[in-house]
Formats: sequence, C-alpha cells, structure tokens
Amino acid sequence: MDRQQAKIRIEELTVLLAQYQHAYYILAQPSVSDREYDRLNDELIALEKEFPDLRLPDSPTLRVGSDLSHDLPEAQHSIPVLSLDKGYSPDEIVSWIKKLEAASSVPLSFVFEEKIDGSSIVLYYEEGLLVRAVTRGNGVIGNDVTPNVKTIAAVPLRLSKKVTVAVRGEIFLAKDLFEKINTAQETQFANPRNFAAGTLRRIKSSEVAQVPLDIFVYEGFFTEPRKTHHEILDELTALRFKVNPRAAFFSDTKNLSKVKAMHSAWTVGKISDVPEFLEKEAGERGSLPYEIDGMVIKVNEIPVREELGYTGHHPRWAIAFKFESPESMTKVNAIEIQVGRTGRITPVARIEPVLVAGSTISNATLHNQEYVDMLELSVGDIVAVSKRGDVIPAVERVIEKNDSGNTTWEMPLVCPSCSTALVKRGAHHFCQNTECTDRLRGELKFFVGRDQMDIENLGPETLEVLFEKKIVLHVEDIYIFNSDALDGLPGFGEKKVNLIKEGIEKSKTRPYKTVLASLGIPDLGKKAAEILVDAGYKNIDALIQAAAKKDPELFTAIHMIGDKLAGTIISAFNDPAVLARIEKLKQAGLQFEAAEALDSGLPKIFTGQTWCVTGSFENFKPREKAMEEVKKRGGNVTGSVSGKTTHLLAGKEAGSKLEKAQSLGVVIVAEETFLKMLDEESGKR
Ligand code: AMP
Ligand code: ZN
Repeated sequence: MDRQQAKIRIEELTVLLAQYQHAYYILAQPSVSDREYDRLNDELIALEKEFPDLRLPDSPTLRVGSDLSHDLPEAQHSIPVLSLDKGYSPDEIVSWIKKLEAASSVPLSFVFEEKIDGSSIVLYYEEGLLVRAVTRGNGVIGNDVTPNVKTIAAVPLRLSKKVTVAVRGEIFLAKDLFEKINTAQETQFANPRNFAAGTLRRIKSSEVAQVPLDIFVYEGFFTEPRKTHHEILDELTALRFKVNPRAAFFSDTKNLSKVKAMHSAWTVGKISDVPEFLEKEAGERGSLPYEIDGMVIKVNEIPVREELGYTGHHPRWAIAFKFESPESMTKVNAIEIQVGRTGRITPVARIEPVLVAGSTISNATLHNQEYVDMLELSVGDIVAVSKRGDVIPAVERVIEKNDSGNTTWEMPLVCPSCSTALVKRGAHHFCQNTECTDRLRGELKFFVGRDQMDIENLGPETLEVLFEKKIVLHVEDIYIFNSDALDGLPGFGEKKVNLIKEGIEKSKTRPYKTVLASLGIPDLGKKAAEILVDAGYKNIDALIQAAAKKDPELFTAIHMIGDKLAGTIISAFNDPAVLARIEKLKQAGLQFEAAEALDSGLPKIFTGQTWCVTGSFENFKPREKAMEEVKKRGGNVTGSVSGKTTHLLAGKEAGSKLEKAQSLGVVIVAEETFLKMLDEESGKR
C-alpha cells in the first residue's frame, strides 16, 4: 500500500472504529462482532506502525495508552470550573428554587442530576477532536491528563460533528470493579473516587488503560450558546458522549408530558414533588453501581443562567443537595510512620478524636506516600474522615489547608526505628534491615497472635518486656525461653513464668498448617497454607524440596496459587535465614508435618509420652527423623528437657540435656532400644 492509500485507509478505519466503540461502550449495542472489530483494529495498528506519522490524534489505538513517561503538565481552563453551593435538606433545595422563581422574569424549570462522586474533568474539543483533558485543579489551572483520558473507552476522541466545545464530566470507577481491582492490587485506595483520581494522575497511560474507568458528562459549553440545559444534554448524547440517563425534570410551568416523552428514564414532576424525589434518590444511593454523594439541581434556561452568573466559588444557577454523609471533619495533629513486620512503612494520621458513624476515631491509615500525595495532605490540615467499609478509618480529602504553611507531607529518608535508608518498591517504602527492632517486634507479635500460633499468656505487654530484656528477639527464641533473666522483675513471679511456659508448650501442638502460616512469609497465610497442604505438600521438607527447583509452575499448577505467591514461596524457601529459622523451630518440636500424614496407621505406642532428643544417631539423620517416628506413634516432642519430659532419646555425644534428664528422673533411651521399640510394634502389626 502506498502512502496515499494508507492515509485514506487510516482515516477510514479511525472513523469506523470510533463508531463501533461508541455503539459498544455508550449505546451498549455492539454494531459488529468482536472479531470484526479486532480485525479492523489490527489492520489499523499495522498501518500506523508502517506510517507512524499518519496516525490521527483521535486514533482508537491510543486507547491502550503509551509507555512514555510524562510529568503532568498544567493547562489553563477557558471555562469556569467551580464548586457548587450546597444544601443539606430537601427544604433548603425547595426554598432555593422558590427564591430563584420569585426573582425571575421568565418561567423556570429545573434539571436534577446525580452528583457523581468521582474525579472532575474538562474535555476540550476543537472541530470535533479531543485536544485536551484537564483536571479541575484550582478551577483556573488544572493538570493536563489528555493521554490518560484517551484510554477511557467512554470518552469520545472524535465527535459525530466538527464542533468546538468544552465538556465537563466526572470520571469514575464502578463500585464492583473497584472492590475487585482494589483488593487485588498492591496499593489500596479508600474508595472508588480516590481510585479514579489516583489513576487519572498516573504517569504512564498504559497503567491507566488497565483500569476500567468510566465517565458521565453533564455540561457543554458551545461557542454558540444553547437555549436550555435539557437541549445541551441531548446534544451531548448525540455527539457520542455518555450522559447519565438517571436525571429528573421539575417545573410548575413547563409541559411535563413532552419532557417525559423525550426522556422516558427521567423522573418528571412539579416543584411540590421535589422533596419526595430527593428522599427517594438518597434511599437508592446504595444500590447504584457507582458512587453518588448527592444531587445537583440546575436552572434549565441558559439565558437565565447567564443573568445569574457566578460567585468566585460557585454558579448561582445550581446547587448540590448533599446526602447525609458518613464523614466527619477533624484536624490532623501528626503524621507518624509505622514499620511493619515485612519492613513495609505505613504513614498514619493522628487526628483530633472525632465521632464518625457512631464511634470515635483518632487514627487513620494513609497507606503510603502516593496516597498522601494524592490527598495533598500535611500536618495541621482539616480533613474529612470516614469509615471504609464501615470499619477502617480513612482520610477522604483535605477540606482546608493548615495555616502554618505546611505543604504535602513527605516520608522521612530513613527508618524511624533503625535509621536504615528507606527503599521504595512499588507504591510503598520499605526498611530492608531484617534486624530492625520494629520489624522484629512486628514478626513476634504476628507469630504469637491469635490467628497464628496463638500463644497463651504471651500478650503484647509481656512480649514487649521479653523483647526489651533481649530474652526474646526472634520467634525461635520463644522456644528456648529462659526465665533466669526475669528474676526479681516485678510482675514476673514464678506463677506468671510458669503460665508463659505453659502457653509456649501448648503452642507446639498447633497443626502444621498453622505453623506454616505463622512463619511470616508474605501472602502465605492460613488460606494459602491450607491450599498447599491439600495439594500434597504434607510436610515442610516436601515444600522446601519443591521450592529448591525454582520452577514457579510447580506451584501455579495448583488451583488458586498465582504467579505472585509462587514467587514468594520460591524465594522464601530458598532464603537461608528462613531455612535456619525453620530448622530451629523444628528442633523446638513444632509441627512441620500435617496430621493426616502423621496418622500413619501405626499403633499409638507413645501416646501420653513426651520425648526429647540429644546427641547423634546412626539411623536417624538428622535426629529430628527419630522424633517424627515418635509423633507418628502418638507421642509429643519437645526441644528441651523439662519436668514434663518423660523420655530422652540419647545418641552419641549427648549434651547437657542428658544430665538434666538424669537429674529429673526422665527415662533415657538409647538408639538400639528405640529401634527395638519401633520394631516391636511393627511386629505386632
Ligand atoms: P463540590 O466539589 O462538592 O463543590 O462539587 C462540585 C463537583 O461535583 C464538580 O466539580 C463536579 O466534579 C462534581 N459533579 C458530579 N456530578 C455533577 C453534575 N451532575 N453536575 C455538576 N457537577 C457534578
Ligand atoms: Zn528499620
């Protein structure tokens, strides 16, 4: 194909595909098969590759975004991009309407639209082509996010007519999609609005293209003013924009049946019907597929709008009816950072205690630096706080900046706990020092926690004392807990110490799955541990051996295990530090084999006995193998000799455990005798 032919064909395909996209995304009535669409799209991609300079600015292939990194430039608005005046009760709205009607020389009507809780955008079209998409910014200057907006399927890149128009709209993410994507990704946003706003400000438009953002437009500024808002909405629809069909029209003077005939989806009524309608909308809010935070009521007659004009803050011809919000206002007193057990750093806002939806909150997570940047938050700011999913407190947005001149808060360069330089990975900062005291604390707290090893009598305060005294710094230290260092410490009498020891002892019976999920390996929680065991990894050695092959497919072949988890399993079980810890915990007598595997069908000759092992053996290398035999036959196993120990299996070069066992009157068993015991019972079988 020569250049001239290519040019013609590219133009053809661009127009055709735009039509198909409109039919598919906006009318929800696909006009061609997916296959036909893909075929034409592929043809266009190929042509554009061959003749890159012929690619049109509204090419549908731009929807996939580009990987070019670009900082967000600024752009000036050519239309007023203001806030809205607010009313909080239907009565307020009705009196606002009545006041305007009384002052007007012409009959009025009012269009009601849902106030979409997303991210505000202005789309500038010249001669029917999208030339710029600019965020609200400060109302005068916003961020130019054109490449990002071009990835949104419902934003027309070329209009059905060559008009020059500025269109205001709201970019949003459907609630169900938000839930799905948000939980799956690394950075969590508090709500769909923040997600949409954050996505829109990404540097790479290819990342924006991954998120199924949507748009509703609600305002069009044409070069030739139109007569009514109603007319503008219809025209926007005809130009291929997505206009929210859930609108309403109220008037005491206009022909309502004519409006209803044009818009069957609209609610139509008299001004006296307004309060009932607003109550109904507030009630339906929760069942809508997208978030709304109110209704916007607009004067329909454009000439009247022009007469009314604007204040510096809002148009006088519109008002928002704000639904009662489960949000409260408060002040950010401080922003502190927490170091998690994996080293992940989380900024937390310490806020002036405030009542939100029935309970007082004084902290709210800020997730990470990106989240703080998006909020443009700093200490001293007045913020709106809510409870995400009705439980977790979240900072929604800044309502008023502080007057001490603090700009956006920034993450310190070093870990507050150990002063190691922080490293950014993905959206989060990390302290990579594995001996960082806050990380160690976190690991311990996690390990003993109720959902993991559930070690009784080793609560956070006790643990903190043991940590401070350097008695327990790592999880394996718990099992060599020596109470001598606690002597004379108030609150740590014999009774307390015995209770702690009892709790520790009891934890050794926790099943393998629990132990596996307590190791603190990222993403390897209860559920994943269960899946691995069910898939046949009945003991830790099987898992370690599989991980040693470094073949992710071994794990991804298991239903429910993805690439990410396969990766962490492989890296964790090849990490010498993790392996050393497992070894120590094994020696301590923790369960590293699933009970079903242990239930070998062998007679339970060791039931009620507690065995310990010392020295080395001919037939059991490593010596833990001997203890496996004990467990298979119903016995308990411990890592150290204590009053509870009933048997000590003593091999060559037995250590101090032997002396201790002798002094306690523990039965000492040599390797030969042990073999006989095992043999004997198999003889009985
Ligand atoms: P506020 O920021 O609370 O003053 O509310 C004004 C914002 O509401 C606008 O900047 C828009 O981003 C948003 N909005 C959402 N839906 C509409 C709508 N149908 N009409 C006007 N503004 C809307
Ligand atoms: Zn640290």
